Amino acid sequence: MKPLLALTMLLACNAPILSAEYVYEAPCELPVAFDVDVVVAGGSLAGVEAACAAAENGAAVLLIEARPYLGHDLCGTQRLWIEEDETPETPLTKHLFGAAKVVTPFEVKTALDRALINAGVPFLTGTFVGELLVSKDGCPGGITIVNRSGCQAVRAKVIVDATTHAAVTRQSGAAFKSFTPGVKEFRTIVVGGERVESSGVKRRTLAVTYRSPALWPPKDKDKRKRGSRDYPVHEYTLPLKMPSDSFRALAAAMNRARAMLYTPGLVDQAEYLTCLPENPIVPAASAGDARGAFQPAGVKGLYVLNAYAGLPRSAMHAQIRPVGFARVGRDIGIAAAEAACGRSAPEDLGFQGAAKAGRNLAVATGPPSFRFRQCPTLTLPGRDVPVLGQFDVVVVGGGTSGAPAGIAAARVGATTLVIEYLDELGGVGTAGLIGSYWYGNRIGFTAEAQKALGARWNVIAKSEWYRAQLSKSGAEIWHGCFGCGALLDGTKVSGVVVATPFGRGAVLADVVIDATGNADVAAAAGAPTAFSITPMGDLSVQVAGYPRRNLGDSGMNTCYALVDDRDVFDRWHLLVSVKRDLTKPAYDMGQLIDTRERRRIVGDYRLTTIDILTRRTFPDTVCHFYSNFDAAALPSSAMFLIKDMKGPCFHCDLPLRCLMPQGLEGLLVVGLGASVERDAMTLTRMQPDVQNQGYAAGLAAAMAAERTAGRIRDLDVRHLQKQLVNQGCLEQRVLADVDSFPIGSADLKEAVNTLHALTIEPHQQKRHDETFPALAAVMGHPKEAIPLLKEAYRNAGDEDDKVTFARILAMLGDATGKETLIYAVEAARGWGKGYGLTSHRKELNIFGEVDRLVIALGFTRAADAIPPLLEKLDALDAESDLSHYKAICLALRLNRDKSLAPPVARLLHKKGVRGHVQPLDYYARSTGSGQAASRSALRVPTRARTDNRDGKNWLNRKFKEVLVAALLFECGDHDGHGRKVLEAYTTDVNGHFASYAHAVLTRSGSTEGP
Ligand SMILES: Cc1cc2nc3c(=O)[nH]c(=O)nc-3n(C[C@H](O)[C@H](O)[C@H](O)COP(=O)(O)OP(=O)(O)OC[C@H]3O[C@@H](n4cnc5c(N)ncnc54)[C@H](O)[C@@H]3O)c2cc1C
Repeated sequence: MKPLLALTMLLACNAPILSAEYVYEAPCELPVAFDVDVVVAGGSLAGVEAACAAAENGAAVLLIEARPYLGHDLCGTQRLWIEEDETPETPLTKHLFGAAKVVTPFEVKTALDRALINAGVPFLTGTFVGELLVSKDGCPGGITIVNRSGCQAVRAKVIVDATTHAAVTRQSGAAFKSFTPGVKEFRTIVVGGERVESSGVKRRTLAVTYRSPALWPPKDKDKRKRGSRDYPVHEYTLPLKMPSDSFRALAAAMNRARAMLYTPGLVDQAEYLTCLPENPIVPAASAGDARGAFQPAGVKGLYVLNAYAGLPRSAMHAQIRPVGFARVGRDIGIAAAEAACGRSAPEDLGFQGAAKAGRNLAVATGPPSFRFRQCPTLTLPGRDVPVLGQFDVVVVGGGTSGAPAGIAAARVGATTLVIEYLDELGGVGTAGLIGSYWYGNRIGFTAEAQKALGARWNVIAKSEWYRAQLSKSGAEIWHGCFGCGALLDGTKVSGVVVATPFGRGAVLADVVIDATGNADVAAAAGAPTAFSITPMGDLSVQVAGYPRRNLGDSGMNTCYALVDDRDVFDRWHLLVSVKRDLTKPAYDMGQLIDTRERRRIVGDYRLTTIDILTRRTFPDTVCHFYSNFDAAALPSSAMFLIKDMKGPCFHCDLPLRCLMPQGLEGLLVVGLGASVERDAMTLTRMQPDVQNQGYAAGLAAAMAAERTAGRIRDLDVRHLQKQLVNQGCLEQRVLADVDSFPIGSADLKEAVNTLHALTIEPHQQKRHDETFPALAAVMGHPKEAIPLLKEAYRNAGDEDDKVTFARILAMLGDATGKETLIYAVEAARGWGKGYGLTSHRKELNIFGEVDRLVIALGFTRAADAIPPLLEKLDALDAESDLSHYKAICLALRLNRDKSLAPPVARLLHKKGVRGHVQPLDYYARSTGSGQAASRSALRVPTRARTDNRDGKNWLNRKFKEVLVAALLFECGDHDGHGRKVLEAYTTDVNGHFASYAHAVLTRSGSTEGP
């Protein structure tokens, strides 16, 4: 060994992942989602440059980025300007900074997306590095990646580690210089707000300002225009304690920085702290070798493209500025492509180092996504997952429900951790820019929040209020951290698996609260879930939005697309295509996709529309809800298929059992992930109530951690309720409440009597109608109600009355009124008024009158119902409304039969019905050979929305095609046309259509449950 290298090695330490404890993860099989020459981990400007340069030099490349966007070293740090002495040299930096010295995050994000798209480089945002994979000779040969679609493997000849904290390199066995615990100097930038003067804190107010286009809404409450505005930019240098070189220490430092630098009026802030690390890698070559400084000594096929590169710190200080580092990125990209050329495909992939015996907990990371079903698989050996901490209560997701859950748990003394993927707390209500309440009970915790912030709030102030409340109570907050698995002790959830900027780790907990709004942890732990596909095989999902975000905005309620939160490709496509195709001026885009509906657990109990409309009480109520049914989708419950209703508001209770996933202990699921029927969730999702729900769960979790070893089902519920009553979260009467079901026979008779007044047209006003609770009572007691309904049908005074009872009976599975329904469907000329899936939640997204007759007739499952139904099918064409398609497909699906295939095929072949699939370009490019064969620009289709620019609703067109193809396939198919369309849809960019097509083809998929 050369003396200099030997000395350097002496000063170095190995693999700085500090953990005294591990959890053993059993051997597993992962899909090899990408097989490439070069994988770039990290979407910084330099990372993107490296990926483009590698692709231009003949390499097949994949880039992954944990954040929802590219360019975090500019946008995430708020360093959106260049200094006088900085000269853009690469085409990308010249494009960005050639004309202007200051850019907006929107310009950065769209330019970086475009660069990769044009270079033909597939990239995945929302995707973390899991583990480094090494080949049998010990050389890096790929990585595992973690995202909303689970865990996948990427095989790669060369890895460029462009992550902020060298997440890959830390696992490679590379030597790093040593880290000395103590106070370190960090930098961060805030936009707007007051100047902070504090001892030890240095401030530089920059010459530049950040200019935002006009705010939204464009006028204030006094009707004054809210035009564009310039905001000052303050850069702070502050000393912060770092007891270890770990993610946990960094998270604590970030929390302290936020506390020190927040002032009212602040409109944006850096997502993370920057610091030139004192422990870079020990490089392969001396500083004189430009490329060698970016390669760790003794590790082949790995480049370090971040602040941990092995340049002397003074040189690094000058290099690390984004524009200069972009040039370095290009050079490293070229080097990576060259290196890949000389390496054969890595084989026998496994992990660095042998696994040791760890805690006796099972690591669960399912469920795998259908998207990777055709990928080859890789069998990986067992491995160690480092334990990053241990808490009484861990809350995954610091959003609308999660932040209050953490506050509640911490306030009563539980050691609490809140894990949040984004850098803001508050979820939809802050990062999602829904900065005001819609109905809801403003009681308990929500009353406290409203007192501090108002009913219409500044989103940054709300996020900060949550942070301050959590900190005050001693909770830890880990931003930029993604919950991606569960630790199981039998059927008891005892912690979570997380992906962090330092790599993957485990956190132990007595109780876990899954506040992801998507039941991420519950699904990983194997809980039964429900989403999008109804028990009757229909596809039904609320329309979502994705807002732009100008500086100072606090409200932007959007509703135009279907997005599947479980699907990394779907999310990626929405984020990229909407940004690219935006026509309005934007300073930035939001970071959170505003999905109104997500994956839900099937809990010990599932709240229904029937419960809501009958105002059912329960012995274990833990929160109250109050809203209208604010549905951004056509309904799917039997109750609402009889009567559509939009306006009136209802109060309801939610039992604790709705938060407990069937078959699992130690886990509570809150927010949009709770066990609530999908139509009912349109009422139980408003922020005032979701906040209180989270708070109740936090309290329950803390109690379970203290008293029942984390077992929620062993809790004294009355004791919990008393605490909630004392804090104003629950009404006193819940302490005496019992289950108000079943309803007595006299009440049921009265309900049937009331139903004579039920009408078929949708209810569109706020006014209440006594027929709703009556219908709900009947639907909730089918066995007892059917004889009464039959009698009412027989005694009905007129035809409308007969139709009413025939419809209700049919929906309850009784065909007594079949003749009446056949007559009614035949008598109805054409289809009458229909509706599409649109952004108009107030009045649209419902079924028309004929739609509901057709559905009811289908439910009779009678042979003589088929001819009139086929007549209706025949009357459809490409322009017919989605509600008609949904109605007839549902009715015929209930009567599926080979004989139906030819007429359904006829509809599929009508002009304009077929041909709306938008295949994901990635499938052809997931392997090196595929990518090399097609080095053209990536195809990123325009997002099918309810309001496409040509004035058409392309979302509905796709929806109609997939529904008809599904029905055709389910009827036995016709010349394979149904299968062909469905197979094409399994590759669609839109996750809901893709997963529906897959579920129909394989007869699988999540449904509403039993
Ligand atoms: C477009 C839209 C408009 C709405 N309008 C209104 C309105 O005007 N008024 C009203 O009161 N309500 C409104 N709502 C309803 C309400 O805002 C939501 O129902 C509620 O905020 C959902 O809360 P949640 O806690 O379930 O999810 P969220 O608030 O989304 O919180 C989930 C949090 O978890 C994080 N997360 C997700 N997965 C992970 C993971 N695996 N690991 C770590 N972190 C994770 C997310 O980043 C997020 O911060 C609207 C909802 C939408 C979508």
